[in-house]
Amino acid sequence: MPYKTFGFSEQQIMIRDNVLGLLSRVLPADKIQELDAASAFPEEAFQALAADGWLGLPIAEAYGGAGAGNRDMAVFIEAMGYHHYGVRSAYMTTAIYGGSHLQYHASEELRRELLPPLIQGQLKMCIAYSEPDSGSDAAGIRTSAVRDGDDYLLNGQKVFITNAHVADFMVVSAKTDPAAGRRGLSLFLVDARTPGLTVRPMDPLGARTSLPNEVFLDDVRVPAERRLGEENAAWPMLMRGLNQERLLLAATSAGHCLKILEVVQEFAATRRTFGKPITEYQAVSHKLADMHMLTETARLATYHAADMLDAGEDAVLETTTAKIVATENNFRVADLGMQIMAGNGYVAGEMQRLFREARLGPIGGGTSEILRNVISKRMES
Ligand SMILES: Cc1cc2nc3c(=O)[nH]c(=O)nc-3n(C[C@H](O)[C@H](O)[C@H](O)COP(=O)(O)OP(=O)(O)OC[C@H]3O[C@@H](n4cnc5c(N)ncnc54)[C@H](O)[C@@H]3O)c2cc1C
Repeated sequence: MPYKTFGFSEQQIMIRDNVLGLLSRVLPADKIQELDAASAFPEEAFQALAADGWLGLPIAEAYGGAGAGNRDMAVFIEAMGYHHYGVRSAYMTTAIYGGSHLQYHASEELRRELLPPLIQGQLKMCIAYSEPDSGSDAAGIRTSAVRDGDDYLLNGQKVFITNAHVADFMVVSAKTDPAAGRRGLSLFLVDARTPGLTVRPMDPLGARTSLPNEVFLDDVRVPAERRLGEENAAWPMLMRGLNQERLLLAATSAGHCLKILEVVQEFAATRRTFGKPITEYQAVSHKLADMHMLTETARLATYHAADMLDAGEDAVLETTTAKIVATENNFRVADLGMQIMAGNGYVAGEMQRLFREARLGPIGGGTSEILRNVISKRMES
């Protein structure tokens, strides 16, 4: 048993054990290091996840999925975050981000056409909202979509788009009414092979097996039936997915904390200085205790938010809190772990990779600052 189950049901224990069993076979530790060094997408693991039906976990049964609830999804994503931050990212851009847009916002025809191949691992997706001048301010984008007969013509630039370099379809946000602020935004499902679309991978600090990319759109022609939802109606569609996104980013970080703790405990148990194991120094054992408390708190916040969502509550405060707590704890755990492993953590290897990965949490999917704004606004209302 790799880590405590946190009161999981039998089915949730099965989810955890099955996905960890699969990943340890197809993506062992040395393979993770190899892929990270090569900045290569974990294709074999992605296909193995698809073959075992995991890509359909969050998708409704009507389209061939399992329609899992929030706690089940948190258990699954925590296990992925524990095994490898990057393979979790490979999963999420397609199954969670792309999959929910198709499931909730695409026409019935598009759902029937694209969800089954998505579940089978035959197509990958990404979401393209951020722009060079507009990351946190998602409504301040400049990419435009102008109607041209039965199509739209898209022009602009996106940045930091995870897995755009391997995606078959991108969900792109664009202004259809530039003067209307967030009421002038629309979403489009763009085939990545469309002429005028260029993708250029970027060079990130961590999570290098799911690269961020620049995406350039130069008169990219998109049929009107590939617009997701109504024209100018993207803002509530974007807001709709935020609770689940924040929950699953929190679950990722909770899992990542568990892995770091395991790696560092293993190191500390055998490392000796001045003739003694370093765990005999309180300066070290207290750091391990702090890492445990931070990990436990990350999990508490995550599973509390999942339970609130499953109970049908308006859980904006809880999911937002969970995302901040888990991602910030994750980086603190990584920093404490690095200090304990010292030179052996700093040079290339597992701890260095974990440290680099952990820095992304408080930035991606809404920065900690923006999310604190969300919490304070909610507290006022
Ligand atoms: C590796 C990686 C992968 C990503 N993947 C994707 C993706 O797949 N798709 C996508 O669309 N985007 C993606 N992003 C973009 C990500 O969502 C943005 O980086 C994030 O929203 C922050 O935007 P920014 O980097 O432009 O920072 P800015 O918005 O420029 O913010 C700069 C600083 O100012 C602070 N700040 C800004 N506004 C406020 C405010 N109102 N109050 C307080 N503080 C404020 C921020 O918190 C931050 O500290 C990714 C980013 C990274 C690094």
